[in-house]
Amino acid sequence: MFIKISLFNVLRVSTLLSAVIASWLSFGTATGQTLDADTIRDAQYASLRNMICPGPDSAPPAITPALAPPAQVFDNLYMLGETGTTAWALTTSEGIILFDAMFNHNVEETVADALAEVGLDPQDIRYVVISHAHNDHFGGAWYLQQNFGSRIIMSVEDWEHMHTWPQRGELAPFPHYDTAVSDGYTITLGDTTVEFVLTSGHTPGTLSSIFPVRDGDNTHYVGYWGASSVGFLPPDGLVEYMGSADRFGRLDGRVDVPMANHPAADGSLFKLEALQSRGDGDPHPFVEGNDGFKQWMDTIHDCAGDVLEQKLREAR
Ligand SMILES: [Zn+2]
Repeated sequence: MFIKISLFNVLRVSTLLSAVIASWLSFGTATGQTLDADTIRDAQYASLRNMICPGPDSAPPAITPALAPPAQVFDNLYMLGETGTTAWALTTSEGIILFDAMFNHNVEETVADALAEVGLDPQDIRYVVISHAHNDHFGGAWYLQQNFGSRIIMSVEDWEHMHTWPQRGELAPFPHYDTAVSDGYTITLGDTTVEFVLTSGHTPGTLSSIFPVRDGDNTHYVGYWGASSVGFLPPDGLVEYMGSADRFGRLDGRVDVPMANHPAADGSLFKLEALQSRGDGDPHPFVEGNDGFKQWMDTIHDCAGDVLEQKLREAR
């Protein structure tokens, strides 16, 4: 998804979403109460459906995403970015693996400065995993490559797609060709291994990832869904997307943390609110169990199916 793509009806989604976020977050803040799991889940699914399911045709004015303060979400995972788009920093015994690179215009602020703010050194970014070749996710890759010598990882297909896809908004410089991976590839940095899953559809080579995160004595597994909106896809792209969503949801029974690079998709802002007031012994708000992960992927799959049905109907 890209925030400024009016063609894709994303403006409508952003506006509705901001209202949803504002109302739910102000609920927690205003009352001083901890958001309970059901409330978070309701908000998460409302914003996910707003983002991906078919909606009304009208498009209200756009909103400008605000910076989100960097936050530690697991012992070894930090959320960076803004309210519309996120990047995630996974710390290992030998440096940082960054998932997505934010925009060219704000990578310094949202990644470099933000890491320093939480006590991490951006020079330690060893790998940057680009989920897909849209410039709200690869836009900062060139900066990270130049300034920190980070290795840039993308799928074979999206290294190519990056150069042909017409970028939206401010143009981002292309990172120099670096590491190309494919389905089933892994990288290991120190004590941590990340597995890559090719989940094409949103782009020809969208890359999703599975990796471990720690919460005290407990290890959980993140299923990082590298794609998002589907409104711009032709019917065959939607079918491909649905196949990828179905497969990713079933691939690994250990995965219990749904995660994405847009808060609208994974409800990360709602969960963060709950995390910040988490009491001793409370469950971790980002952990939803493998059934929860599958339900999330099923919802994404089904929303894409509804969009497909609508497009086929309109074409008749
Ligand atoms: Zn995209």
